Amino acid sequence: MGYKKVCLGCKIAFNRDIDLGSEQTYPCPECGKSMSLLSHRFRAPKKNDIKAWKTVKFLIENGFPFQHIYKIEDGKLTNEYADFPNSMKEAKEFIEIYKEQAYKK
Ligand SMILES: [Zn+2]
Repeated sequence: MGYKKVCLGCKIAFNRDIDLGSEQTYPCPECGKSMSLLSHRFRAPKKNDIKAWKTVKFLIENGFPFQHIYKIEDGKLTNEYADFPNSMKEAKEFIEIYKEQAYKK
């Protein structure tokens, strides 16, 4: 399973070629700040899609760095993976529904 290196400030994302462990840090080639590591499931929004990037940041800050989240239907956990939301409104609902599966800080 791969990771993506993402700089939320510069709104850029790269694939990380080798899996060296998540404790590794990667400076952003543009601003030099340490990049966030997100699951390979992450799809970077277009650079000028400010709202989508805000949503991404919000999800990460709330313990959802695009890991596998099991879909909940009718209050029950399923074997399917939930899709990550694209809008802030959906993201707020998402973190509420899936808070049990959030990474704790
Ligand atoms: Zn950067």
